Amino acid sequence: MSTLYDTEHLKRSDAANILHPASVVADVSNNGPARIFVEGKGAFITDTDGNRMLDGVGGLWCMNIGYGRTEIGDAMKAASDQMGYFHTFAGASNPAQIGLAEKLMAKMPDHITKVFFGSSGSDANDTLMKIVWYYNGLRGKPEKRKIIARKQAYHGTTIATASLTGLASFHRNFGLPIPEVKHTSLPHYYREAKPGETEEQFSARLANELESLIIAEGPETVGAFIAEPIMGAGGVITPPKGYFKAVQAVLKKHDILFICDEVVCGYGRTGHWFGHQLYDIRPDMIATAKGLTSGYFPMSAAFISDDIWKVLHDGSATLGAFAHGFTYSGHPVGAAVALANLAIIEGENLVANSAETGAYLHAQLNDTFGHHAHIGEVRGVGLLGALQLMADRDTKTGFDLKHKIAARCAAAIGNHGVIVRPLPTADSLAFSPPLTLDRGEANQMVDAIKKGIDQVMGELSADERKGMAA
Ligand code: PLP
Repeated sequence: MSTLYDTEHLKRSDAANILHPASVVADVSNNGPARIFVEGKGAFITDTDGNRMLDGVGGLWCMNIGYGRTEIGDAMKAASDQMGYFHTFAGASNPAQIGLAEKLMAKMPDHITKVFFGSSGSDANDTLMKIVWYYNGLRGKPEKRKIIARKQAYHGTTIATASLTGLASFHRNFGLPIPEVKHTSLPHYYREAKPGETEEQFSARLANELESLIIAEGPETVGAFIAEPIMGAGGVITPPKGYFKAVQAVLKKHDILFICDEVVCGYGRTGHWFGHQLYDIRPDMIATAKGLTSGYFPMSAAFISDDIWKVLHDGSATLGAFAHGFTYSGHPVGAAVALANLAIIEGENLVANSAETGAYLHAQLNDTFGHHAHIGEVRGVGLLGALQLMADRDTKTGFDLKHKIAARCAAAIGNHGVIVRPLPTADSLAFSPPLTLDRGEANQMVDAIKKGIDQVMGELSADERKGMAA
């Protein structure tokens, strides 16, 4: 790439004008952004200085089909030239959203029958939360409003969804969570199980804790439980054996809906079309975004069951309009992008590649880190995973989070040409590369991850090395 960019000027201009999401405000305004990316192809992206990196995170867990796909640009241009936009309020529609809904519905379980389109994962979860309230109101149970999420989970950043998110930094200084949201235990067997507890016993204990919370709150006040099949930003936490079976039995007993947040897991990430297929989850509602368009267009799809739909349908006689929707709901350009994206996922068998190359990547990581002194666990499924950093694997001692070991490892790995995502609360390094990844690229990831981790671990001070016992 010829360098057409004045990086220093761009950094200064960025720092002067932009409030960056999820960033330390003073850091970015003092130093400017760390990198400015300008082009991408496949799994690789290049910055303004010509540095080319393998994006092991796929943007923000969303770049399923890989960068620079001209088919998406073609679909976008055609849809934009043809009309560009019209809303979908008050019964208006367009062929692209109609085609997309049909396509998506064919991939959903039979009992899921309707989809609502929006623009982000947050608005999908927000929409589903409001539908829980609307639905229970129509059923004559307006007090059944509380939503139970899990500690450490990530479900978005709007007022409602930041409340669902179980990370303290998303609550602090915002006066959140809202009173309708409660949090239950994190199902991370490796770090949260008691000594000697089996996975099944751990799952049963967590299901009991969930039931105790429901009873303490009053089952008549609890409307829904929300969970990702595999918790992404919370640490790529795969559920322990029997977890969702035990949880679903509790929910059923107390007439509580299951909102399945597939914003990360959906559209092939786990080697299956959707994460709920892995764990025998029967969701009442499903939130998707990210991989729906592989990030080329901001779009979400929130799904509801036929049982919920019937209540909404019958309620319209008394309530009139379903007074919820976004200017960009069912956007014809977004829907055309989603259709082109799904055509690539299907045409190139990317779900199967996620399973196969994902299994290869996990095997290589397990070979490399299975006995590593500072890696406690390699976890994940398909092309979704994380490495658990530990001060001492043998004594199961974690690092003191104040040392920011995950961020330092991610920076060192970045210097070896691979992007991974540090997850500070879980003290883990996460990866979710494009589903086009091949074995050579998987090897490149493992090599850079090993070099970066070994470098940081080799430089630890005695104090940092001590860590903090659980
Ligand atoms: N749900 C999950 C599981 C997510 O990981 C995210 C974002 O990372 C969201 C919801 C929110 O999506 P968005 O950032 O598009 O609002």
